[in-house]
Amino acid sequence: MGNWNSLWKISAPARVKHLLWRICKDCLPTRVRLRQHHVPCAPNCPSCDNGYEDDWHVFFGCLEVISSWRAASLYDVIFHRLHSFQDAKSVIFYICCKEDSNLAGRVAVMLEGLWKNRNDWVWNNEKEEATKLGWLALHKWQDWFSAQHIRHSEGNEENLLQWQPPSSGSFKCNVDAGFNRQLGTTNCGWCLRDDHGDFVIAGTAWDGGTLSIIEAEALALKEAIHGISTLHFGHVLFESDFQMVVQGLRSTASGHSEFNCIISSIKLLLLDLPHFEVKSTPKRHMLYTFLVQYLLDSHNVRQDIYDMLEVEGRKIFDSSAIKLMKYKDNEE
Ligand SMILES: [Zn+2]
Repeated sequence: MGNWNSLWKISAPARVKHLLWRICKDCLPTRVRLRQHHVPCAPNCPSCDNGYEDDWHVFFGCLEVISSWRAASLYDVIFHRLHSFQDAKSVIFYICCKEDSNLAGRVAVMLEGLWKNRNDWVWNNEKEEATKLGWLALHKWQDWFSAQHIRHSEGNEENLLQWQPPSSGSFKCNVDAGFNRQLGTTNCGWCLRDDHGDFVIAGTAWDGGTLSIIEAEALALKEAIHGISTLHFGHVLFESDFQMVVQGLRSTASGHSEFNCIISSIKLLLLDLPHFEVKSTPKRHMLYTFLVQYLLDSHNVRQDIYDMLEVEGRKIFDSSAIKLMKYKDNEE
């Protein structure tokens, strides 16, 4: 029997933990399980129609879910281990026990997104495109995580972590990037919201080269500006998590690095778009925390990124890294 305590310790909303609990208690109503309880229905997966729909298929086996795990930057965490497990609950227990609670939380939110998407398809004939589903899961977890951060902190500085709506009549576009080192792909995503904070439109893009995180962020911004420029939205404020990208746009220096080339093409795009504005997201603390997490996840600490941070950034980076390493030590 798995370690139930490990399930409740992960960094995820309570309803997501409850879903994990249901999976691990063998009570998720997949078609295979419904048939075991004599409910007359076809056993086939309603999404791909290719294989029986049991827990394993819904979360890991279905062809459609692989792109979602990739887009959520969780493919490496899950898929190279699957051969060691017989069922979905064993994978879940393993992740909750062995991975740090934030990573386990992200996995859990992805699982919830997949199950919700499956239900939307079965009951409402609607489903999200697989890559977008992965991005949405990642952002959903990040939003939840920053809300927790605000709740648990006392300083005013931390309030900056909350998403701020743009001025009345304007739109705000948040931009993000992630990548998969094994596959050598960079993925970019953006999400446009109106002045009430309501979702308007989102987009994703892929690039076949392995870029550094800074280049990937710049590319994500370029894709977002390009995507939204064709839609005639009026004033749009673009927010990038990376101040370096914004600094690059303001700087007159030019060079031939990949980063400078992307920045130059963004500048060129913006010349024709005076109603577009680019700022950096005021959630630097979060950013460095995620950066550390990314670096540790990938076991590939990149000195060049560290070198690019300013003094303040390095302080936050170091303290987050130490906290995370101590935490990992305690877990083992
Ligand atoms: Zn399927």
